[in-house]
Amino acid sequence: MDGARLPTTAPILILLGPPGAGKGTQARMLEEQFGLVQLSTGDLLRAAVAAGTEAGKAADAVMKAGGLVSDDIVLAVLTDRLADPDCAKGVVLDGFPRTTAQAEALDQMLHARGQAIMAVVSLDVDTVKMVLRVAGRYTCGSCGEGYHEDFKPSKVAEICDVCGAQDMTRRADDNAETAMSRLDAYQISTAPLIEYYAKQGALKRVDAMGPINDIGRSIANIVRTG
Ligand code: AMP
Repeated sequence: MDGARLPTTAPILILLGPPGAGKGTQARMLEEQFGLVQLSTGDLLRAAVAAGTEAGKAADAVMKAGGLVSDDIVLAVLTDRLADPDCAKGVVLDGFPRTTAQAEALDQMLHARGQAIMAVVSLDVDTVKMVLRVAGRYTCGSCGEGYHEDFKPSKVAEICDVCGAQDMTRRADDNAETAMSRLDAYQISTAPLIEYYAKQGALKRVDAMGPINDIGRSIANIVRTG
């Protein structure tokens, strides 16, 4: 565990990258390694959809189409979650911000609390390859291990290699058509944030096409050095 080497103030780390870049995988690794809390707006929205809340009902169709949920809804679910006591340990934002308006709202929120972003890590990938990565992804619902129909199938169909559970889940939006729309949304609305955070001096770029553990080491170095 490297948690002891974290900066003393609760760090706020942002992972930027298109769908399939590995934000979720890296956020979970950071959670394990540094005790940071993974805050995925996609997960929060999926939970809202499953719970049938007003926010969930409004988000459902947009998410199925691969579009971006409105800034108001996203900010509301995120602000709610950030108020939970565990977030005081520090958070990794995975999938947020995705628009300039969200980035500005986050800046204002942090400014009001006297906090600052520790780093924004851009996971640099070949975006065209991301559609192939996303279409065909599936996850063990019990332990969270990730698989892929072509690149990393489980050894026995539908059974998790790690925990043995027969509980594979597939996201409704992890198909080729929706992945294309998600990638378009990224290029139009989210990619400009690379420049936004570069101007703030917060941007760190990581080559994210290589092995997962190498990418994890690069990000861990960024976290250690603040
Ligand atoms: P993700 O799990 O990050 O791939 O997000 C899944 C879907 O949730 C996205 O395709 C969007 O429809 C929606 N979503 C997640 N985070 C955001 C966000 N910050 N802004 C707008 N929509 C979001």
